[in-house]
Amino acid sequence: MPDSSHPVQPSELLRSIFGFASFRANQEQVCLAAIAGRDLLLVMPTGAGKSLCYQLPAIARGGTALVISPLISLMEDQVAKLAALGLRVARIHSGLERAAARQACVEYLQGSLQFLFIAPERLRVPGFPEMLAKRNLALIAIDEAHCISQWGHDFRPDYRMLGQYLPMLRGAPDPAPVLHPTDQSPSVGAPVLAMTATATPTVQADILAQLGMVKPAKFIHGFRRENLAIEVVEVPQPDRASAIFRLLIEPSHRPAIVYAPSRKQSEQLAAELSRAIPAAAYHAGLDADTRERVQKAFQAGKLEVVVATIAFGMGIDKANIRTVIHAGLPATLEGYYQEIGRAGRDGALSRTFLMHSYADQRTHDFFLNRDYPPVECLSEVYEALTGEPQKVEDLRAASKLGEEEFDKALEKLQIHGGARVDFGGSVTRGGPGWKKTYAVQARYRAEQFAKVLGFTTSSECRMSALVGHFGDVEDACRPCGKCDVCDPAAALLRRFRRATAFEREIVQSIVDELRSVDYKAAGALQRNLDLVGRLSRSDFDALLDAMARAALIEIEAAEFEKNGEVIPFRKVRLTARGLEVRPFTPLSLLIGDGVADEFGGRTDPPMRAKKTKLAQPKLAHPGPKTRQPETEPLPRTPEELALAQNIEAKLREWRAVEAKRLGVPAYVVLHDRTLAAVAQAQPENVQQLSQIPGIGLAKVERFGAAILALCRASD
Ligand code: ADP
Ligand code: MG
Ligand code: ZN
Repeated sequence: MPDSSHPVQPSELLRSIFGFASFRANQEQVCLAAIAGRDLLLVMPTGAGKSLCYQLPAIARGGTALVISPLISLMEDQVAKLAALGLRVARIHSGLERAAARQACVEYLQGSLQFLFIAPERLRVPGFPEMLAKRNLALIAIDEAHCISQWGHDFRPDYRMLGQYLPMLRGAPDPAPVLHPTDQSPSVGAPVLAMTATATPTVQADILAQLGMVKPAKFIHGFRRENLAIEVVEVPQPDRASAIFRLLIEPSHRPAIVYAPSRKQSEQLAAELSRAIPAAAYHAGLDADTRERVQKAFQAGKLEVVVATIAFGMGIDKANIRTVIHAGLPATLEGYYQEIGRAGRDGALSRTFLMHSYADQRTHDFFLNRDYPPVECLSEVYEALTGEPQKVEDLRAASKLGEEEFDKALEKLQIHGGARVDFGGSVTRGGPGWKKTYAVQARYRAEQFAKVLGFTTSSECRMSALVGHFGDVEDACRPCGKCDVCDPAAALLRRFRRATAFEREIVQSIVDELRSVDYKAAGALQRNLDLVGRLSRSDFDALLDAMARAALIEIEAAEFEKNGEVIPFRKVRLTARGLEVRPFTPLSLLIGDGVADEFGGRTDPPMRAKKTKLAQPKLAHPGPKTRQPETEPLPRTPEELALAQNIEAKLREWRAVEAKRLGVPAYVVLHDRTLAAVAQAQPENVQQLSQIPGIGLAKVERFGAAILALCRASD
């Protein structure tokens, strides 16, 4: 028990016991809450340092901490680390001799352990929880707590039962004065600390409920990555291979991982890339030797690109991965985030690309149907089962379902308790409860994918959207400044073009239409403005997205119910900046326009006035009447043209020197498109400079003076 007259400062323990100079972000807060005896949920990415958040409080509180961990390897790793620090630690799991487990129990009961690690299934051993309950615990830490949630892919039934044992293990209310008295007084005995790197808000709520946490503190932190530039681009499937090739042929974009949706595609892509780049495929269909060889060669830098299915990356510890490409839609945002998270561990700018198209959606529907067959299929198999064991083969042969369908249905029934299969291959009927849990799980899967789709079509900052998805609402409000939404002009793969006069005109009318209302549905907006025949739905959406990127409007996904059916729609709302738009306000809008055909820093074309796909409206009074001034005049006279070229050349020279000085590729200093835009706009002051697409605040701060000087020197 802590000695309250001389409380040891957490920072002191951090130094003296763990040998760390300072806390990492958020660790101290979490430690203080745990020391104070508060139940808590901690969600931080892998490697963020969650273990310390139970280890330090355990020592501060005194006594033994019980740590529940799902994998023997994880447990062994932690135990070895703690023992190396000179701490008294033991573990009990199925990989140990009986005698060792008995010895651990003896030490525990003597009170000589600071940490006792156990596997969750150990609690089912009769008498074991009672043995633990003989002493008051310092705290109970549950590592990888997402395993509790039946929706997660790591679901462990034994984790689900933890909640049952906790009241007994927590023991009597802790009578000892707490180290740092706060308003949260512990009253339920040892605090429960749940830790995980992956928990959506739904899973978080599930964890809290399952563990019966009391007034838990929630710490959800650290999901923002500052050095990832995320791009999400619609690319038709047949064009993806060449787009990937063009991205990766640029040496500064490597090493890279490409995630392909299927084994076949991973092999095809790898073969294609190998023509010019050291690349290989990696998937679960390859033998273990080949997989190990590929992984080692990539780690050692002999291979520069690995084209993988999701099976790749777990064992990868490579800090300098510059690019991660998804050649198809991922199934969940968790998986996606983990995969892009392998880029740029060294902190240097890295790029991620997510390619998608309508066709991906259909592929996913297909997989979802295959992996989660309709309830009727399961019912059919369930009805055929009886209390008497029957051979699986016989049932399969008698079933109307195809072999694979049958096996899938039986597998699902088994998972959800509707069927019991024994080792001899016989099956008996289980309880009827499967229907409910199966439906919940299938729906959850579908919802997860809907979130991925929502992510691709959203016009919110990509990083903010991800951070928000993981439940860090506080941090979700800050745009990253690097993604295709925040800095469209810097996007490599996604192409943008300037809005045409016609489009800017529509923007004006959208603003007018929204000025007097709280919001309008996107569809209604298009109808009201009589744009239905004149602008395709996708062109209209592209325009709305451009307005959202320019912060003139906000788009919010919403839904309403009609005849029992839920119908999604988008609320469009004017922002404060949008309200300021008046008929002659200059608008600098970039419209998403497919995939760039060349890029890579060196070959970037200047921003082209690309031919527009939009049908020009028939004006009632054609003729010379100007409806709106050209707000972004392109140089017209030969003199103006020459001047712009002159400035552009000088900017290029300066950029080359700067890039060399900083040791980064040229486009990191200024993208070709931005460079061309600066040359055309010829800004006279910081204000004007910062209006140019691709010039964020950071660029102004770093290079503003130099760029302005160059523009000035040229007139
Ligand atoms: P996870 O959040 O994935 O459980 P760990 O707790 O395993 O992460 O910590 C990852 C690594 O970070 C470990 O090697 C750990 O020693 C180190 N670490 C944790 N906290 C600190 C700190 N305050 N200063 C330096 N290193 C730390
Ligand atoms: Mg951990
Ligand atoms: Zn962003």
